[in-house]
Amino acid sequence: MKITVVGTGYVGLVTGTCFADTGNMVTCIDTDEKKIERLKKGDIPFYEPGLSELVIRNQQEGRLVFTTGFTDEIKQSSVAFICVGTPSRKDGSANLDFVFQVARDIAHLNDSIIIAVKSTVPVGTAAELKSLMHQLGKDRIRIVSNPEFLREGCAVEDCMKPDRVVFGTDSYDTLKVFHDLYQSFVRTGNPIMSMDNVSAEMTKYVSNCILAARIALINEMSLLCEKVGADITQVRQAAGADHRIGTQYLFPSIGFGGSCFPKDLRAMASLFRDYEMRANVLEATILANELQKKNFCRKIKNYYAEIDMSIAHKKIAIWGASFKARTDDVRESPALDVIDFLIKEEAKVVIYDPKANSNITALYGSQVKCVDDPYEALDGAFGLCVLTEWNQFRHPDFDMMASKLSKKVIFDGRNLYSPAKMKELGFAYHSIGRV
Ligand code: NAD
Repeated sequence: MKITVVGTGYVGLVTGTCFADTGNMVTCIDTDEKKIERLKKGDIPFYEPGLSELVIRNQQEGRLVFTTGFTDEIKQSSVAFICVGTPSRKDGSANLDFVFQVARDIAHLNDSIIIAVKSTVPVGTAAELKSLMHQLGKDRIRIVSNPEFLREGCAVEDCMKPDRVVFGTDSYDTLKVFHDLYQSFVRTGNPIMSMDNVSAEMTKYVSNCILAARIALINEMSLLCEKVGADITQVRQAAGADHRIGTQYLFPSIGFGGSCFPKDLRAMASLFRDYEMRANVLEATILANELQKKNFCRKIKNYYAEIDMSIAHKKIAIWGASFKARTDDVRESPALDVIDFLIKEEAKVVIYDPKANSNITALYGSQVKCVDDPYEALDGAFGLCVLTEWNQFRHPDFDMMASKLSKKVIFDGRNLYSPAKMKELGFAYHSIGRV
């Protein structure tokens, strides 16, 4: 099948590449010329495990091409996937300008294509796109809502072997096209779930809201654990052993972040307001997450206040800045809140992240220093904040850490170490929900 994918970010590039890898002819379009130039050379503009090899192979085998403009390829495409960003507006609602612009551009060149919306868009967007097509006199174009559930860090695996494929449509002939397209990704029998557009749009937000609420809830429980002297790790493991609860998305931390959860929760809360309803649990989740990040910063502040030390002009090290491990994405990373706090306290912030250093430098410039070695970050530092759960931080050389740090204190926002072991090693150790 000939496919066009518009937007070559984390979703579009992975989607386009995986479709190419199953034999489809895929054209990927992005307005970012630098990105497309890099992609043409087989250079992936962001870090995603396993993606580079796939892009290069499919490009070499002629199934994957990159371009900046809407070219004739779109005229031959059966399906165009919209994978552009849908950032938050000031009021929290999703900005759909890119989505509508792209839909217009596609409709201009092909009046019988299927437009599949993979970007996360508010409920009702498919209906609006349908009415736009009607206004443009393009009633033969069909709109499919095809939300994406991949996770950065394992996006290729998630795309190739999704738990489920969801798509919404009101047109019978698109059902077969989508079943055919996705068949090779669900060979183990995972379901392809077709439904109406509104339900498909709703499914994406509901999934993210539930996952984010779980994290916020376990984080809230961790606060009480610290007060009563319980260990949140034992508590979450025991609670999660109940099959009704399960173990996923129950890891206490400095809070959730990334380009999806915060943005999607805001968009969903905004949608509730549109219907003059209040999203009580959702609003509480958003607030609890903000407080969780603040609590972590307060923990740092209180520690130094208690030992009567100012961190102004003193070096503080950070390990991990991406919003989670296995990605270089720092969008709404909770680490940014900690970095902002430390900058405000006038500390000299030195950061090591295995993949996100360049994104952090792009954001903060000379306000922080990024280094290429985790132990170099510790040289003469008066404390270490561990903010991303990269595997390489799980078993560090504690002796080396002790010898490099000017003050043996660790603020662990990901609970990577055992409090008992840290005590034994002589570190002052502050983690989440454990004393
Ligand atoms: P991204 O910012 O990484 O990529 C978006 C790309 O679209 C950029 O490369 C940008 O240059 C391009 N673009 C913008 N306007 C364009 C236009 N008019 N024509 C062509 N290209 C254009 O975003 P992303 O993380 O891939 O997310 C895309 C959408 O998918 C969002 O709605 C997001 O909420 C959703 N989503 C993201 C994830 C994720 O993990 N990142 C998962 C599921 C869903």
